[in-house]
Amino acid sequence: MPLARLVWSDDLLHYDFGHGHPMAPARLDLTMRLAAELGLLDSPELEIVGVPPAGDAVLESVHDAAYIAAVRAAARGVLAPDRGLGTEDDPVFPGMHDAAARLVAGSVDVADAVWAGTVTHGLNIAGGMHHAHRSAASGFCIYNDAAAAIRRLLDAGAQRVAYVDLDAHHGDGVEAEFWDDPRVLTFSIHQDGSTLFPGTGNPADVGGPDADGTAVNVALPPRTASAAWLRALDAVMPAVVREFRPQVIVSQHGADAHAKDPLSDLRIGVAALAQGARMVHELAHEVADGRWVALGGGGYAVVDVVPLAWTSLIAEALHTPLDLSRPMPPAWRDYVARAVGRVGERRLEVDPVTWRRWVAGYDPADAVDRAVLATRRHVFPLWGLDPYQD
Ligand SMILES: [Zn+2]
Ligand SMILES: [Zn+2]
Repeated sequence: MPLARLVWSDDLLHYDFGHGHPMAPARLDLTMRLAAELGLLDSPELEIVGVPPAGDAVLESVHDAAYIAAVRAAARGVLAPDRGLGTEDDPVFPGMHDAAARLVAGSVDVADAVWAGTVTHGLNIAGGMHHAHRSAASGFCIYNDAAAAIRRLLDAGAQRVAYVDLDAHHGDGVEAEFWDDPRVLTFSIHQDGSTLFPGTGNPADVGGPDADGTAVNVALPPRTASAAWLRALDAVMPAVVREFRPQVIVSQHGADAHAKDPLSDLRIGVAALAQGARMVHELAHEVADGRWVALGGGGYAVVDVVPLAWTSLIAEALHTPLDLSRPMPPAWRDYVARAVGRVGERRLEVDPVTWRRWVAGYDPADAVDRAVLATRRHVFPLWGLDPYQD
């Protein structure tokens, strides 16, 4: 039995809003090419499966039927800007319904496999479309595969599912879907909504009346860098997840918090993103018998960031972490030059990250520490935890 299952087929490249749109399919193509060059795809611990688009029953578990009909119509060119379809962020394209529904099927497939125990870890780097709402597209996201995967786990009998969202943007669609459901803990660490799309994700937002404390938001100031990001993540996420005792963790690994990403003002390096993924992975083994479903997400530095970040995610799930400072394979750099017409860097990441744990004391003069404390003060008492102590 392999350790991990990865959803992939070239059909997933059809999620394509067109030339010039930041969500370029090259991000996925270059990732898979790099993973192949590094030998990860030949691992006996990895099975790779393709999936057909999800059917209506799966889509209707997290979307209104009328919205699904509008996406189908959009794929034929009928715009519905009131549902976010045919906007600057979410232009319509032929095949849109099938392409978006295939991402959903991928995340549901790996969630099923992890819950059934046929694999320990599931990966869908094409997924993580966390902004899609019940009845509207938003922020490059048409259907919410993360929410659908969580819904499938609940329907299969899971009583507690933790969702951990590392994308630069607030995981608003997933949070909204499970806002008042005590069975789902949603955690999101992101750039403050007053300075970045979608504008939500405040520390005071802690869940609906039946689910107090099951929404957790860490809202960081612009320019937060690697060490502070890891400090903030570690100061909130593991403690709350441990109290919640999930049976499975679903995580979203948007790589757009990176310093080179054009769509956020955070300054996180790949090494920190990889360390964040490791934190989630280790927690899954600690509290959830290893059950971990890892999804992609945002990430618009398609050469310099996304391929290395997500290759390292695949390597992490295979228990063979990548040396991020290694030179990029020449064959991959040649492919990059042919595919996107520019020469990729010889090395993408050099700096290991050292960071200070929260227990080492917080600094009221530091904006990141103040952001962390705001979340701890809103959330920790609801879990019987002390905001001021480790
Ligand atoms: Zn994002
Ligand atoms: Zn593992």
